[in-house]
Amino acid sequence: MSDLRRTSTRAGAPSPSEWSENSSPSEERTQRRRLWRRRVLWGLAAVLVIVRLVTLDGWLRPVRVASSSMAPFLLNRHYALRCEDCFAPLTADAATHRVGSLVTCFNCGYRRNRVLPQHARPGDRVWIDTLPMWWRAPRRWEVVALRTRNGRYVTKRVLALPGETLALVDGDVWIDGKIARKSYAEFCQQRLLVHDSDYRPSFQGSPERWHAVPPRAWERWGGAWRSMEGQRGTDREAWLEYHHLSSFSDARPPRDREEEMPVYDVVGYNGDRARAPLHAVPDLVLEGELRWSADAIWMLRLRLQAVTWVARVDVSAGRVTVTENGKRLAERPWNVPVSGKRYRRVEWGMWDRRLVLLVDGRTIASCNVSIASPAGGISRPVAIGCRKGTLLVGRCRLFRDVYYFGPAGDASRWEAPSPLATLFLAGDNQPASIDSRFRRDDLGSARLLGRVIRPIGGWR
Ligand SMILES: [Zn+2]
Repeated sequence: MSDLRRTSTRAGAPSPSEWSENSSPSEERTQRRRLWRRRVLWGLAAVLVIVRLVTLDGWLRPVRVASSSMAPFLLNRHYALRCEDCFAPLTADAATHRVGSLVTCFNCGYRRNRVLPQHARPGDRVWIDTLPMWWRAPRRWEVVALRTRNGRYVTKRVLALPGETLALVDGDVWIDGKIARKSYAEFCQQRLLVHDSDYRPSFQGSPERWHAVPPRAWERWGGAWRSMEGQRGTDREAWLEYHHLSSFSDARPPRDREEEMPVYDVVGYNGDRARAPLHAVPDLVLEGELRWSADAIWMLRLRLQAVTWVARVDVSAGRVTVTENGKRLAERPWNVPVSGKRYRRVEWGMWDRRLVLLVDGRTIASCNVSIASPAGGISRPVAIGCRKGTLLVGRCRLFRDVYYFGPAGDASRWEAPSPLATLFLAGDNQPASIDSRFRRDDLGSARLLGRVIRPIGGWR
């Protein structure tokens, strides 16, 4: 008997006497279902309220970028298309272009890329994160959002803090008489692409930008370049040299795209109309995918008018030497393992008067350099060389730093009235940005809301 009862009543389940006296099992089920439905509805409502509080009037506020002053980091309404000659992705500000406009490719200089209605894109959606500003002041190089007196949102980068003295010298930011240097991560956020070798012009007769010196010292090997001198055993330096060519037509008659020139602070997004005179940019970084043999001696070169810096990597000796006009600046151990079939990402160049060599994002060598005013620039700023063994060169991208200049545009040195009473804010798109250089009082009285973050996965 007891055994029977045990089997009929499931362990843990309430016995029939525990239910209310006048409800059948089916009514119990509907009651339970109703209870759950109510809980789910309340939960959903709570989630909606929290989302509303957090995103609209609280910690995170979604806004759409409406001006081109932070391009290319943040884009307003624009057109996105591909170059017809080299297929590089291009963006063009919708405020300065319209359907039917022609876009000059920054990568190969091809000028007849036509804007079509299907190229239209809305401005980037970003979030204003108000939380950090509750307990700390904004930091230099941070992108912040403000609300001006007339209720408009403004996004800008912080260049200087209240109490500091600011000068813009040859494109760099100087604070209290010293240069303000960006970290690698900060530089990566601000850098602008000048040329990408993965996008090679396809039209016959289109100019090439990478040249072997002496000729035939390098050969094409699949999608890469291969040094030939090492195999011939001549012990001569073979260079692969970048020639910068015109990629804008801001001149009458328009410049030919085969014309060599220094890297200028042109922002392709703005179109050909530059508001300020152009400046030659000294801060350039070459990022190359490289593969070398265990016996290789290979070099990286950076030139700025009269100064030439070379990083010489002796793989078998495990040493890298950096020289300035032949004089040794630094010597560091080279402990990067020979990569077999893998290409390594090597970055070499200068920003904020610091010379750097990185492999896969890790700093191998860096030294501060002091140079006289670098105005002018040269058209063949970077090169990759090989003296011994084999070097394979894959995709190469040349980046430049943002070039900061004062409101008159052409001065190589500009000082803000000092010391600053409020934050000094500037847009990355210096030729187009209306910022603290021009409207200090207006921006100074604007309410700081928070820092700007780009939502992961779909910010454009
Ligand atoms: Zn192109």
